[in-house]
Amino acid sequence: MPRDPRFDILFDPVRIGPVTARNRFFQVPHCSGMGHLLPRSDAAMRAMKAEGGWAVVCTEQCSFHPHAEAAPYPETKLWDRDDVVRMRHWTDAVHEHGALAGVELVSNASALPNYYSREIPLGPSHTPATYSHDPVQARAMDLDDIHEFRRWHRDAVLRSRDAGFDLVYLYCGHDIAMPMDFLTRRRNRRTDEYGGSLENRVRLLRELLEDTVGAVGGQMAVALRFATDELLGEDGVTWEDEGCKAIEMLADLPDLWDVNVSDWAHDSATSRFSSEGFQEPYVSFVKGMVKKPVVCVGRYTSPETMLSLITRGVSDFVGCARPSIADPFIPNKIDEGRLDDIRECIGCNICVTGQHMKTPMRCTQNPTVGEEWRRGWHPERIEPKGSEASVLVVGAGPAGLECALALGQRGYKVGLAEARRELGGRVTDESAMPGFSEWARVRDYRAYQIDKLHETVEVFRESEMTAETILDAGYRHVAVATGSRWRGDGIGRANTMGPIPGSDGAHVFTPNDIFGGASPASPVVVFDDDHYYMGGALAEQFRDAGLEVVLVTPAPVVSSWSEEALEQEIVQSRLVAMGVGIATGHNLTRIDADAVEIEGVYGEGARTVACASVVMVTSRLPNDGLYHGLKASPDRLAEAGVLSVRRIGDALGPGLIAAAVWSGHRYARELDGPPPGDVPFKRELVFV
Ligand code: ADP
Ligand code: SF4
Repeated sequence: MPRDPRFDILFDPVRIGPVTARNRFFQVPHCSGMGHLLPRSDAAMRAMKAEGGWAVVCTEQCSFHPHAEAAPYPETKLWDRDDVVRMRHWTDAVHEHGALAGVELVSNASALPNYYSREIPLGPSHTPATYSHDPVQARAMDLDDIHEFRRWHRDAVLRSRDAGFDLVYLYCGHDIAMPMDFLTRRRNRRTDEYGGSLENRVRLLRELLEDTVGAVGGQMAVALRFATDELLGEDGVTWEDEGCKAIEMLADLPDLWDVNVSDWAHDSATSRFSSEGFQEPYVSFVKGMVKKPVVCVGRYTSPETMLSLITRGVSDFVGCARPSIADPFIPNKIDEGRLDDIRECIGCNICVTGQHMKTPMRCTQNPTVGEEWRRGWHPERIEPKGSEASVLVVGAGPAGLECALALGQRGYKVGLAEARRELGGRVTDESAMPGFSEWARVRDYRAYQIDKLHETVEVFRESEMTAETILDAGYRHVAVATGSRWRGDGIGRANTMGPIPGSDGAHVFTPNDIFGGASPASPVVVFDDDHYYMGGALAEQFRDAGLEVVLVTPAPVVSSWSEEALEQEIVQSRLVAMGVGIATGHNLTRIDADAVEIEGVYGEGARTVACASVVMVTSRLPNDGLYHGLKASPDRLAEAGVLSVRRIGDALGPGLIAAAVWSGHRYARELDGPPPGDVPFKRELVFV
C-alpha cells in the first residue's frame, strides 16, 4: 500500500550540521546489555533498525576513556585504535542500510566505581558513587584534571570520526554524566570558575562543546543530549529556570539538541505510570529557543502522535528508543501504509532489565531482539515452512499466540485452540490491573496478525482441549501452551519446606482467583514472595476498590525486582501515598480466620496482623497435565499420526511474558529445522 500522504512530513530529509538525515525517525542512544562484550550482536541489532528505515541510529552511551568505564555494565568503548577498528564494523553495518551513525561519548563521572580500570572516579566534588551503592567515592577534579579530561574527550571525538560516525554526542543527562554533575548544584560544590553561578557550572559543557566543534572541523555533526529537568523541584535543574537558561547560553553550539528529562527512571518511565508523549511538558519549549534541529522522546508508538509532534512544532525528529526495539521497522511500515502492522512497545521496561542484568536485552513485544546475530533471527522475515505437517497450538496466551503467528507466517497450517472465549491468557488478565492496559498490545498485535493469516491459521475459541480431543484433531505436531497457575499454599522463596499453616482456608486467594472474579474481604493481606509487579499491582487494585490493604514481603522493599525495570521507587511511593500498610522484611508464617502471623526475616519476633482475607503471590506451577497425559501414551500418539508434542511458555517454565513470547517464537523458528545443538547459538569469543 502507498504511504498515506498525511505522513509525508515524517519522511522529509532534515539537515543536522554537515550531514542530512533521510527522514525524521531518530533512534536516540539506548543501552543494549551487549556493548563491547558482544559487539557483533549489538551491531546486528542496530543494523536492523537502519534496515527498518530509521534515519539516525545511535550507540548506547560509549565510554571514551578508562577514567570512567561503567563496569560491570558491558558498555561500548572507544578508548583506543582497537576500539576504532571494532566500531568500524558497527558504523559499516548501519551505513549499509543508509542510516547515519551516531555515537554518544560518555564519562560516567561519579556515577560508577571503575572496578575494571581501578581508576578513582572523577567528579566536580568529592561524592559517593551515585549510580551504585559501592563503597567508592569520586574525587574532586582540580584544574589539571579538567585540562586532561578535555584532552581525553577531544581525542575520543577524533577516534569517533575515524570509526566512521556521522554524529558525535555530548551527554549531559540522566544524572550519570560529567557535564551534568558539573551543571547540577546537587553534585557541584566547587568555589572556582567551574562552580557557583550557572555560567560557571555550564563552563565545562561549553568547553567540551567548543572542543568538539573544533575537533570535527565540520566533518561530523555535533549533538548534545541535555536533560532539561531533573523532576526534583528546586533541588535540581528545572526546565523553567536553569534548564532554560543553560540552553540559552549554548543554543548555537551543537548542530542538534536532543532533550529529555532526568534521571533514567524518569526518562524511561513505564506505561504503568506514564503515557505516550509524557515528556512534552518539559521539552516543548526548546524549539522556540534554538535554531538547530531538536529531537525528543516519549515512548512514541503511534504514527498519529508522531505526526502531531512534528506538525505542532514540538520537535524536528521523532526520537525513539523503546519503540524502535519493539519494532525496528516502524518507519518502513508507515512508509508502506502498513500502520496496523506496527508492533507497539508496551512500556514494560524488560529491555531495561537486560542492561541491569548485564546481558543482551530482551523485549516483550519483539522476541528477535538480541538474536539478530547469534541466531540469525530477523524481526520481519522467517524461513518458509520445512514440511507440510500441520500444528495444533493449545492455549492462546502470549506463548501460544506468538507461536501460532510465527508458524502461520512460515506457511504452516495451524490450529490455535483456546479454552476461554477471549484470547491472551495471562496478558488479558494482567492488563486489567491498574496501569497495565498497554500490556494488552501483546495480545492485540498478535490476534490481529493471526486474523490476517486466516487461510492458514484457524482459531478455536472456547475449546478446552483434552488428550482425547487432541488425538482426534488430526494435527502432526502439538505445541502445549497451557500456561501456569499461582500456587495458594505459600511455597516460594521464603517458605520452602511445606505449605504455610492455614493456607487452605476459604479466605485465601491466588491472583488467578482474583482474575476469575473472587473478591477478597477487607482488610486484605497481600503476601508477596514473588517480588516483581504482581503483589504491588494487586495491592493497588484492592486499595483502589476501597479495601484496607497490608502488603507483607520478605524482601527489604516492595516489588523489589521492579528496580531492574526502573519502577520500584514509584511503586512503593504510590502504595504509601494510597495508604497501603507495608511490612517489608517479614515472612508470612501462619494464617488464621481473622489474622495472619508474620515474622521478621532478621529474627524480629512474630506478630499478628488482623485481616479478613489473604492473597498469595509467591510462585507458580506449570499447567502441564495435558502435556504429560499426551506423552504418557506414545502408542496412541503414533496411531494418531502425531509426530511431536512439546511444551512452550509458562507451561514449560513459568516466567516473564517476554520469556513466553520468546519461547513460542523459538518453537516456530525451529520446527522442522536442524536440531539446534547443545549450544544453540553463535558466541562472540575474542581469542578465536
Ligand atoms: P503463556 O504465558 O505460556 O502463554 P498463559 O497462562 O498466558 O500462558 O496462557 C495459557 C492459555 O492456555 C490460557 O489462555 C488458557 O485458557 C489456555 N489453556 C489452558 N489449558 C487449555 C486447554 N486444555 N485447552 C485450550 N486452552 C487451554
Ligand atoms: Fe517496549 Fe517492553 Fe519491548 Fe522495552 S521490553 S521495548 S518497554 S515492549
